[in-house]
Amino acid sequence: MADSRLTILGCGSAKPTKTTSPSGQLVDLHDKRFLVDCGEGVLLTMQRLGIRTGRLYSIFISHLHGDHCFGLIGLLTTLSMLKRTQPMHIYAQPDLQKLLQPLLDYHCADRQYDIVFHPINPRKHEVIYRDRTVSVETIPLKHGVPTCGFLFCETRRVKKEDGSFDHVTRKKYAYCSDTQYSEKIVPVIDGVETLYHESTFLQSMEERSKEVKHSTAADAAKIAALAHAGKLILGHYSARVEDHSLFLDEAKPIFENTILAEENDVIEL
Ligand SMILES: [Zn+2]
Ligand SMILES: [Zn+2]
Repeated sequence: MADSRLTILGCGSAKPTKTTSPSGQLVDLHDKRFLVDCGEGVLLTMQRLGIRTGRLYSIFISHLHGDHCFGLIGLLTTLSMLKRTQPMHIYAQPDLQKLLQPLLDYHCADRQYDIVFHPINPRKHEVIYRDRTVSVETIPLKHGVPTCGFLFCETRRVKKEDGSFDHVTRKKYAYCSDTQYSEKIVPVIDGVETLYHESTFLQSMEERSKEVKHSTAADAAKIAALAHAGKLILGHYSARVEDHSLFLDEAKPIFENTILAEENDVIEL
């Protein structure tokens, strides 16, 4: 399963810094490629890493704060310049289409490919995507605006005695950003091999984290422990914290197998 990996395209919060741009990740599962969130700078990082967009058919957007979707119009316009013809599927809450459509009509009306919007309900835990080897479920999160994370499951079809098929999960990856500490997500992500959980703030900024509905590194670690996760990846760092190792120092005593997301990182899933 070495072909299942996560590429960090952006791991900062709203304000870009010298080393971080806003959220974006590429999830490769088998031969499938998914983009999760598309902050400003995501396309640039993909270009820098030599990542081609030909195999990218699906984009998942967690919520409509700009640091998770401002990169979309640039990406979709560039795909048009690259003469893309295959459709692109976007899974997001319905308001995204309302916001994006006028920009697409203005900048990208002559594109040769279809953009298919799939409206999702971020308040409900449900399967929103399924093919033969991968399924994606929403993870309702607790943030200032309607937000959901995504649970990627590598599945295998097993034939049952009656001749019908069942989907057996082999490996799971959970993306949880942005959210304040919420134990409600634990049953949804229980037993996940890899968990990305935002850790915008340090313990010293705990009050601020509650005000703006984000998490500290310790919050992320507590959720990882409660969910029996295999590994925790921290990210969505506040621009006010330059030294990311401080997040690790606060998470590790609670959940040992924690690593930091840094831009351009490729992490095996
Ligand atoms: Zn954010
Ligand atoms: Zn947000």
